Amino acid sequence: MPDFSLPQAPLQRLDLPWLQPAGVELAALRLDLIDPLISGNKWFKLRHHLIEARQASAPGLISLGGNHSNHLHALAAAGKRFGFATAGLLRGHAQDTPTVRDLRALGMTLHWLGYGGYRERYRPEFWQPWQALYPGWHCIPEGGGGMPGAQGCALIVEQCQAQLASVGWDDYHAWWLAAGTGTTLAGLVLAEAGRHPVHGALALPAGHGVAETVAGLVGTQGYELHDASRGGFARIDDELLAFIAQSEREAGMPLEALYTGKALLALREQVQAGRFGPGSRLVFVHTGGLQGRRGYL
Ligand SMILES: *Cc1c(COP(=O)(O)O)cnc(C)c1O
Repeated sequence: MPDFSLPQAPLQRLDLPWLQPAGVELAALRLDLIDPLISGNKWFKLRHHLIEARQASAPGLISLGGNHSNHLHALAAAGKRFGFATAGLLRGHAQDTPTVRDLRALGMTLHWLGYGGYRERYRPEFWQPWQALYPGWHCIPEGGGGMPGAQGCALIVEQCQAQLASVGWDDYHAWWLAAGTGTTLAGLVLAEAGRHPVHGALALPAGHGVAETVAGLVGTQGYELHDASRGGFARIDDELLAFIAQSEREAGMPLEALYTGKALLALREQVQAGRFGPGSRLVFVHTGGLQGRRGYL
């Protein structure tokens, strides 16, 4: 049985001009570089789902997302790579975006649920008709969330620790990463077990249940959440875009505007506010998502 093992994400020092005055050192764990198609944190989140699906001899995988979804994109690519059929349940009405075209090209069957239909996704009976239509298929919650998703993300910590010497560090002080559902953050908190705090830069404003989701997975210790949403998920402003363009030049690293760009900007604010003392060593997780920016950049 293949173990769906993941390629190593490189750890790289980031030299950004706002770090030095604060005496803070930063390294990026580049999950965006692990694979051209199954990119970012999504392969980590899918790994345990893939193992469960294989163990159950499931013929296919079903999940949900929007029409720029990084999660559905990774799922379609993983299905094609590892021999599962895939079906995607999409929010809203049929649309043609670069992501949707890729989903089709990767062989995913698409069902458009409308907005009302999509809102039903938390109801217990939501999956019944899909399970009837696709008997034996493995159903994955939105965004690859839940405990299996978090468990796969524990590997992110292992990958980082295996490479510390390559950036000249023997240890680090904290993690900083973008959070959507908070599943990836929960995985880091589980793996760290209190050794290093995990800072989540939230892509959604308060009130979307992210704090509750994380608490449900790992309790309330070992992490801190920061609002990085700039007023709303997918809300993009000129300051953000200018920061991204400048950071891409300075760091030699691509960013997108919904997660990684907002997370790095929120980190700059905290560093400049003196949140991390001189000598702090931080690991920024580049969670990927670059395919999605074709939709808006
Ligand atoms: C999906 C995604 C996230 C959010 O991950 P969660 O585990 O849902 O918190 C962060 N960054 C990028 C680029 C993503 O695609």
